[in-house]
Amino acid sequence: MNTMELLRQEAEALDAADALLPLRDEFHHPVLNGKPAIYLCGNSLGLQPKAARAAIGQELDDWATWAVEGHFHAKNPWFSYQDAFAAPLARIAGALPSEVTAMNALTVNLHLLMVSFYRPTKQRWRIICEAKAFPSDQYALESQVCFHGYDPKDAIIEVAPRPGHDTIKDADLLATIERYADTTALVMLGGVNYYTGQVFDMGAMAATCQKHGITFGIDLAHAMGNVPLQLHDWEVDFACWCSYKYLNSGPGAVAGAFVHERHADRPDLPRFAGWWGNDPDTRFRMEPGFVPAHGARGWQMSNAPVLNMAAHMASLQLFDRAGMPALRAKSLKLTDLLHRAMAVADPNGRARIITPKEEHRRGSQVSMLISGKAEAVHASLLQAGVIGDLRRPDVIRVSPVPLYNSFADVVRFAEVLEGVLG
Ligand SMILES: *Cc1c(COP(=O)(O)O)cnc(C)c1O
Repeated sequence: MNTMELLRQEAEALDAADALLPLRDEFHHPVLNGKPAIYLCGNSLGLQPKAARAAIGQELDDWATWAVEGHFHAKNPWFSYQDAFAAPLARIAGALPSEVTAMNALTVNLHLLMVSFYRPTKQRWRIICEAKAFPSDQYALESQVCFHGYDPKDAIIEVAPRPGHDTIKDADLLATIERYADTTALVMLGGVNYYTGQVFDMGAMAATCQKHGITFGIDLAHAMGNVPLQLHDWEVDFACWCSYKYLNSGPGAVAGAFVHERHADRPDLPRFAGWWGNDPDTRFRMEPGFVPAHGARGWQMSNAPVLNMAAHMASLQLFDRAGMPALRAKSLKLTDLLHRAMAVADPNGRARIITPKEEHRRGSQVSMLISGKAEAVHASLLQAGVIGDLRRPDVIRVSPVPLYNSFADVVRFAEVLEGVLG
């Protein structure tokens, strides 16, 4: 019996023992060339919860029935629609409900939070971030720096992997924060790097920032719903995320934001205000003089995009059914199996894994570097029914997601990869 056969049997046993497996049927799985695809792209766009359609339908019905009166008489009144999202988001973020809210889109939230939390001065104007951050984050940081009249070349310090390494050492990030502490206003990291899948030691970064009075913000696009987070206990100042990746809420769906409790009642913090961030008790007085709501809600600007938030809630309810600890435990088993199956599929190491192997440094994603051939391999994988994603020039990312992927998916992927590489 060859090793792949043994892995297939192991996957069967793991699936049989998996208490989360029934959740797989709560999602629509895509079809490719007339056959169910092996979907390993939840890091980019999560699958559709089957309950999303009815949830959106409820809001359409209430809109049809109630029209404007739906703000108060809909089954889920639109006036306070966002309030129901705080508790489930807080459970995923490791936060207090008052510290989180669902609003806007990710890059928008990053800008809005930087308005409050990137306040450069003559002494401290720099931003420290990871090299090769997601392009939207790079543009956001650059344009914020320019907006304040600084030169990005001087103001933005990027920490890169050491020569010959694929990922950034946490120690190098910490040392850079120490080195530039006196001139740094903000450390802004992607909690999980979108390209390599590397998880940063967010708690250690937060502690070092606090020691030096530096503001610490995190983009959790690839972290929310993927890795354990303790934003409150780590004392992160602010964070933002999107909901269409691991949070399965649909393309362009509403994003989220975290603001630590210690900033909850600080009307002194400058912000770009809108009516939905005003204290709900006085929101409809329509008088000048913004009174921010307590906590993260004080950063909301506009009323809730109810139709897409309905899908977001359908997904958050599945997270509550599973619980992050169980999801994380399964995620680690899935990626462990993936690492071993890839070693069997690719004994000559043509697809080199650049994601860290240590459990605390990875989430659901595994990135493989295939020099010069990634595009062709990706095309062949698609042809064979595997949906991963290509990051030009050389990287293919695959992500077995514990809510809806099985261990069998992982081994089937490895078998396909073996055929494609061989
Ligand atoms: C996906 C992602 C984005 C996308 O930003 P949107 O504003 O949602 O379009 C931004 N930053 C990171 C790190 C991402 O992974």
